[in-house]
Amino acid sequence: MDIVWFKRDLRVHDHAPLAAAVASGRPVLPLYIVEPDQWAQADASGRQFGFLAESLADLDRSLRARGARLVVRVGDAVRVLHDLHASHGISAIHAHQETGNLWSFGRDKAVRRWAQAAGVPVHEAMLHGAWRALNSRNGWAARWEAMMRAPRLPAPAGITMAALASDPMPQPADIGLAPDPCARQPGGRREGLTLLKGFLATRGRPYRAAMAAPDSGATHCSRLSPHLALGTISLREAFQAARAARQRWQDAGDAAFVRSIDSFISRLHWHCHFIQKLEDAPWLEARCLHPAYEALPDHDAARLAAWAGGRTGWPFVDACMRSLNATGWLNFRMRAMVMAEASYHLRLDWRQSGAVLARLFTDYEPGIHWPQVQMQSGTTGTNIPRIYNPVKQGLDQDPQGRFIRRWLPELAHLPTPFVHEPWKAAVAAAYPAPLVDHEQAARAARAAITALRRDPAHAAPARAIVHRHGSRRAGLPDTTRRRQPAAPPAQGRLDI
Ligand SMILES: Cc1cc2nc3c(=O)[nH]c(=O)nc-3n(C[C@H](O)[C@H](O)[C@H](O)COP(=O)(O)OP(=O)(O)OC[C@H]3O[C@@H](n4cnc5c(N)ncnc54)[C@H](O)[C@@H]3O)c2cc1C
Repeated sequence: MDIVWFKRDLRVHDHAPLAAAVASGRPVLPLYIVEPDQWAQADASGRQFGFLAESLADLDRSLRARGARLVVRVGDAVRVLHDLHASHGISAIHAHQETGNLWSFGRDKAVRRWAQAAGVPVHEAMLHGAWRALNSRNGWAARWEAMMRAPRLPAPAGITMAALASDPMPQPADIGLAPDPCARQPGGRREGLTLLKGFLATRGRPYRAAMAAPDSGATHCSRLSPHLALGTISLREAFQAARAARQRWQDAGDAAFVRSIDSFISRLHWHCHFIQKLEDAPWLEARCLHPAYEALPDHDAARLAAWAGGRTGWPFVDACMRSLNATGWLNFRMRAMVMAEASYHLRLDWRQSGAVLARLFTDYEPGIHWPQVQMQSGTTGTNIPRIYNPVKQGLDQDPQGRFIRRWLPELAHLPTPFVHEPWKAAVAAAYPAPLVDHEQAARAARAAITALRRDPAHAAPARAIVHRHGSRRAGLPDTTRRRQPAAPPAQGRLDI
C-alpha cells in the first residue's frame, strides 16, 4: 500500500501526494499521525488542536465521498510507520514538504533515516512557494508567480483504500493539552472556502483601509490564515480565486476592490517569502539572526505573565492581548505592536513571548511566525527597529476607544481621552498602573540599540544563512515529484 501522510495539507484538492498515490494503482492509506511529542512543544496549544480536529473531520468527509476514509494513528511517527510497514508493507510514502518548527524538522530527519533503512521510498511535493535547498533568491518572485498560476490538481474521483481501522481522534486532555474555550475560528475546508468566497465577493472591498485596525480588520481581512496554515485550502487556490475576482471587479469598474485584491495577493506572496526564510534557516526560532542582539532582553517572568494576560497597564496593548486570548486572532499591525512592546518596552526574551503568541494564534505558522517575531523585535540587525507608541496606536486605530472598552470593561466608565491613558484620569479604575513608563522605555530601547550598532562587534555580519542542500532542512530525500498532468478546473472555481 501507498501512504499519503497528511500534515499541513488537510484537503483532497490540489494535493499532489494524494494524486500520485492514487496514480500508483496500489491501495492507498490516507494517514494522519497525532504525535503527542509535537503537542508537548512550547508553541502548541489546545486551540490549534481544536482547529486541527475539525479540519481532519472535514477531510475524512471528503475522503469518504471518494470511497476512502482518514486513518488516524496516535504516537511517534517513526514508530507508527514502522508498525504499519511490519503489519501491511508500505510501498511508498507520499507527503508534502513541511517547513515546520525545529521539532518537526528533527522528526522528518528521523523518518528519513527509518525509511532509508527500511527501503521505503519517500516522495515529497512542494507545499507552497518555498523552495528547499535554495541557492539564491534571484528570480524567486517570478518562480513563485509561475507556481501560483500553474493548474490546480483536481481531487481524485475515487480512491482505492487499504483496509485498516483508524484510532479514535484523541481528546486534547489525552495528549496533555489544557481545555481552551476560546471563540476561535472553526476548522475545515468548507469554512475556508466560505471565507474565501465571502472575502472576494463583498467583505474584501475595504480591506486595504480596514486591515490596520483590530475591529475592522477582523471583519474585512480574509481570515484565511488558519486554513492556509493547515492547508484546508491551497495557497494556489486562494491566489487563483483572487486573480479571477480581480478581473471581475476590474470589468465592473470597482477600482477600490481591485486595489484591495492587489494588497491581498501581495500578502499571499509574503506568506511564502517569510516561510522561505525559515526554510533556509531553521534555527531562526532559537537564535537571534544577528548575534549582537542576544544581549538586549532582560527577561522577567512576571512581566511576561502580565503582557500575556493583558495586564501591562497600556490599554490598547492589553485590549489586543485579551482579544487574542478570547478569539485566537489578531490583525497584522496589532501583532507587530504587541510583539514590539514585549521586546522593546518590556525587554522580554522574544523566544518566550514568541511562544506565548504562537500558542494563542489558531493560525500558528512557524515559517511566518518566527521571522516576524525577530523582525518586530529588532534582532535581525538589518530592519530598522519599529518601536510603537502604545498610546498613539490606540488613538490611531481605536480613536473612540470602543475596542478598548469592549475588552477592558473596567475602563468602560472613563471618558474617551482617558481610556487611552487611564493613569492621567482623576477617577480611579480597577486597572493596573503601567508596568513601565512607555516613553522612557522606548527611549532606553533606542539608546540600547544605538549603542549596539556603534559597537564594532555589530559590524560582524548577521549569522550566515546556510542553505540546506540536503543537509539541515532536507529532512526527507529530495524526491519532489512532478505534478501529474491533469486538466485544470476553470480558474476561480472552487471545489469541496
Ligand atoms: C509577530 C507576528 C507573528 C505572526 N505570526 C503569524 C502566524 O503564526 N501565522 C500566520 O498565518 N501569520 C502570522 N503573522 C502574519 C499576519 O499577521 C497574519 O497572517 C494575518 O494577520 C492573518 O489574518 P488574515 O488571514 O485575515 O490575513 P490577510 O490580511 O487576509 O492575508 C491573507 C494571507 O496572507 C498571509 N499574510 C498576511 N500578512 C502577512 C505577513 N505580514 N507576513 C506573511 N504572511 C502574511 C497569511 O497567510 C494570510 O492568511 C504574524 C505577524 C506578526 C507581526
